Amino acid sequence: MGERRGIVAFDMDGTLLDGRFVIALADACDAREHVIGIMNGKMHGYEKSRAIARLWKGLRRDDLLEALARVPLSTNAREAVEALKGYGYVVGIISDSYDTVVEHLASILGMDFSVANRLVYDSSGALTGRIVMPLGWERINCRCMNSVCKRFHLESMMRRLGISRSAAVGDNDNDICMLERADVSVAYRPKSTTVREKAMYIIDDLYDTVRILA
Ligand SMILES: [Zn+2]
Repeated sequence: MGERRGIVAFDMDGTLLDGRFVIALADACDAREHVIGIMNGKMHGYEKSRAIARLWKGLRRDDLLEALARVPLSTNAREAVEALKGYGYVVGIISDSYDTVVEHLASILGMDFSVANRLVYDSSGALTGRIVMPLGWERINCRCMNSVCKRFHLESMMRRLGISRSAAVGDNDNDICMLERADVSVAYRPKSTTVREKAMYIIDDLYDTVRILA
């Protein structure tokens, strides 16, 4: 590997994916209303993640990958990742989705790292409904209280790799703490005004990340 110019951390749902994995999985299980009800509820982010994961008890790895295959990649996701790697960036996903899915997508896109909730399977390969949450907000007093504090895990990855510059790309409120921390923050088709306000750049095409960072 040549000179490493920085880390680029992408969100998955609504950013690399043109849609939300958990909705595709819910549709396969007739649980869309249930999932949306939890998402729109008043619990903290990490409690929502735990409640939603319980719905998937009994599903298997292939069920998840089939649902993932039904969510299209965002336009130029593959091209942007490839170009950023070509410019010397270490590129990965920090997501509050599930390791099975996020690692698969990272591998498809040839990315360098991924962070996500770990699904707990039983010995027959069926989901138990439990997840191990990376958290992190409790260690740095982040207000996000999500199952994956993206700021904490961006900082951890930078420390682990010995890289001091970072960029973050996201679309939603759970990306805000990562967008605030990154040296370059990019909102891709932002879903809230807060995300729009926090980001240095607002883009409509993922390839714009390359134009910004090249
Ligand atoms: Zn956070």
